[in-house]
Amino acid sequence: MTNLPSPNGKTAKIANSFGLPAGRDYSCPGATETCQRVCYAGKLENLYKGLREVLTANLAELMWLDRAGMAQLLNDMIADFRADCERAEARGASVPRDFRIHWDGDFFSWDYAQAWADVVRSNPDVHFWVYTRSFDPAALDVLPALVGLSNLSVYLSVDPDNLEAAKAARQRHSWVHWAYLAETFASGRADLADLPGKRYPCPENGHRIPLISEKGSACIRCGICPSGRGDVVFSIAKK
Ligand code: SF4
Repeated sequence: MTNLPSPNGKTAKIANSFGLPAGRDYSCPGATETCQRVCYAGKLENLYKGLREVLTANLAELMWLDRAGMAQLLNDMIADFRADCERAEARGASVPRDFRIHWDGDFFSWDYAQAWADVVRSNPDVHFWVYTRSFDPAALDVLPALVGLSNLSVYLSVDPDNLEAAKAARQRHSWVHWAYLAETFASGRADLADLPGKRYPCPENGHRIPLISEKGSACIRCGICPSGRGDVVFSIAKK
């Protein structure tokens, strides 16, 4: 998802996302059975012990702070991101200021969501996007904290386990989009057939564009989620 890949297209030159440890016991109060089964970020954490330690340290640093303290830390991170973009622009690169709030983990508390809302508000030159399962009042619903932010696209991470909660959330908040995770693209289309609106199959998940290449990263090239163009469907089988 980087906004600036290396010239050979293999690595990211700018980090444009933040991570927390995944799972119900950590930062994902809205985790479902389906996402716990297939969570790609959780699998990476199990594979790379050092990564897990970094993410756990991120959560440990934030969770004892109040809203203002969390917003300060997150704002500092966005200031670093902006400085990275400006340095690349000074060298002639084209660098969209798109920042994905979490590449791993989720909103773990109401205060934390409010802190991010403060950060989004105070950085209008950056466009943020986020996927979240924290939209069910039975566990944690952060959507009221994220209302009315024109430089933020919010995607509910939906699968068959939380479909009813997602329908209720969209009744309360018509401005949110869905990222629907199905077993296959066909079963996703079938699950959502009765619902209004346009849906896009994720081109990276369907192997139509690479995750990263010299042309850019998938999400920046595709642009659907960063811009909040519409609902998207992901397939566990990737077909
Ligand atoms: S639909 Fe596009 S922007 Fe969204 S996750 Fe897939 S590649 Fe990224």
